[in-house]
Amino acid sequence: MVKTRFIFVAGGVMSGIGKGITVASTARILKDYGFSVTAVKIDPYLNVDAGTMNPTEHGEVFVTDDGIETDQDMGNYERFLDQDILRDNYMTSGLIYQTVINRERNLGYSGKCVQIIPHVTDEIEKRLMNVAKKSQADFVLVEIGGTVGEYENVLFLETARIMKLKMPDQILFMLVSYLPIPKMIGEMKTKPTQHAVRAMNSAGIQPDVIIARSSQPLDEIRKQKVSIFCNVRPEAVISAPDISSIYEVPVNFEKDNLGKIILQKLNLKSKVKNLRRWHKLVENIRSSKKSVKIGIVGKYFGTGDFILSDSYLSVIEAIKHAAWFLGRKPEITWLSAETYEKTPAALEELKKFDGIIVPGGFGKRGVEGKILAINYVRNNNIPFLGLCYGLQLAIIEFARNACGLKAAHTTEVDSKTNMPVICTMPEQFQNILKKNLGGSMRLGAYECRLVKGTLAYNLYGQDVISERHRHRYEVNNTYRKILERNGLLVSGIHKKGNLVEVIEIPKHKFFVASQFHPEFKSRPLSPHPLFLGFVRASSI
Ligand code: GLN
Repeated sequence: MVKTRFIFVAGGVMSGIGKGITVASTARILKDYGFSVTAVKIDPYLNVDAGTMNPTEHGEVFVTDDGIETDQDMGNYERFLDQDILRDNYMTSGLIYQTVINRERNLGYSGKCVQIIPHVTDEIEKRLMNVAKKSQADFVLVEIGGTVGEYENVLFLETARIMKLKMPDQILFMLVSYLPIPKMIGEMKTKPTQHAVRAMNSAGIQPDVIIARSSQPLDEIRKQKVSIFCNVRPEAVISAPDISSIYEVPVNFEKDNLGKIILQKLNLKSKVKNLRRWHKLVENIRSSKKSVKIGIVGKYFGTGDFILSDSYLSVIEAIKHAAWFLGRKPEITWLSAETYEKTPAALEELKKFDGIIVPGGFGKRGVEGKILAINYVRNNNIPFLGLCYGLQLAIIEFARNACGLKAAHTTEVDSKTNMPVICTMPEQFQNILKKNLGGSMRLGAYECRLVKGTLAYNLYGQDVISERHRHRYEVNNTYRKILERNGLLVSGIHKKGNLVEVIEIPKHKFFVASQFHPEFKSRPLSPHPLFLGFVRASSI
C-alpha cells in the first residue's frame, strides 16, 4: 500500500492567476523527481459537470478519455504530466450534492438527519481517498477552485482541514496568491496576500508554501515580509513572476527549490531528478524564431470589451506543441466568423495566414461565416484543419459548392432542412426531444479505423487510433457516395459503427477534418500527428 500525500492548492486575492498551472507544474516537478503523481480539480459550481457551461464564461470544456466534461485545468494536468487524467479526478459541488441527495433518497443514511457537515465533507473526502486508492499515486494534488474567503469553496477547505487532522504527516497546503504592483504606487504590495492567509487561517488552515504571483519577481524584502506576516518560512515563499510561456513555470519554480521544499516538509527523499526533457522543451520554445501564422475562425472570443482565448485553450496549445516541435514560432490570430457574414470581402484576409483552423462549436451563430471561410481556404489551397463542428461545416460547404446540394445543412441549425448532410443518430434525437442534454453527447474515447494510403493514415502511422469526442450530430451516410464522387475522401471510420470520423481532400495542399477533438490529446512532449501534419504543411 502506497502512503499517498495530498497537496491542497487554494487561491488568494483573485482568480485567474494560474492555480491550475501551479498545480500542473508542481505535479510535473514531483513526477520528474521519480514519484507517481496525479491531480484533482474541484470546481465549486453547482453545475454537475462543465458540459453545460458557456465557454466564454468558464473557458474550454475539456473531455477526458472516459467521457466526462470537465474544466480546462484538467487539460493542463494532462499536458504537464503527460498522462491521462480520468473522471474520478474531477468534482463539482453539484456532483457532490447530487450524490448525497440521491443516497438520502435511497435511505442510504439510515434515518439520520443529513447535514452539510459531516455528510457532504465525508463525500468529498471519500472521493479524494478513492483517487489515492485507485491511482496508488505517491502524490495527489488537489486544486480547490475559486479564492479563499468565498462561500462556495468553504466545504472543500473544511474537508482539507479534516483530512489534515486525520493524516497530519500526509497533507500539505499551498496558497497561490497575487501581489499587485499598483501603477500609482509603483511598489509590490503584500497586504492582500496577508489577508488571504488570514482568511485561510479562519478556515483552520495554515499554508506551508506560498506561491507569490506577480508581474515581477519577489525581492528579498517582500519575501521576508510575506514570511513573517503569513507565518511561512522564507524559503517556502516561491517567487512566481509573469513569464512568456506556461511551460517555463516548472523550471522557474525549481529555481526556488519548490520540489525540495515539498519533499522536506513531507519527510520524503527524492528518488531521482530528471528535468532534462522538460528543459529541452523550454529550450525549443525559446529557440523557435521563424513564425508560422495560424488563424482560428470561431465565435467564442468576446467578453465585453475583452478577447478571451480560453474557450479554445487545447486547440491553441496543440498548435504550439506542433510548431515548437518543428522549430517554428506560432503566431495565432482570432478571426470572427460573424465578420465574414456581414462583409464577405473580409475573407481576403485569410490569404495572410499559413493555415486556418475551424474548431468545435455549437448552434447557429457564426455558422455561415465559418462555411464561407472553409470555402475560401478550399478554393485557395490554404492548409485547413477542421475540428468536430469544423468537420461538419466542411461537409456542408463541400456538399453545397462541390456537389451542387445547395440546400445542404445540419439539423442542428435547420431542423427541417431537406438535405440533412449532418444529422443526429436516433438515440440523440430522443435526448433532444426529452431535453436530456447534460452529459448525453457522444463523449470520450472511441476507436477509429484509418484507411490505408490516406494522409490521415500516413500522419498517424497506424490504422486503429483512439480519439476523444464531444458532439451530438454526425455525417449522414446517405450523402457519402455523392461527396466521395466529387473528390472528398473519408479516411477514418468509427471502428464499431459506420460513422465518418476523418475526411480529407487529396487534391488540396492540406485539407483534413476530424469528427473527434485531437487537441485534447496533444502534449508538449508529444505533439499530435494531425496538428503536426497541419503545421508542417503551413510551414512550407
Ligand atoms: N455542435 C456539433 C455537435 O453537437 C459539434 C460539436 C463540437 O464541435 N464539439 O455535433
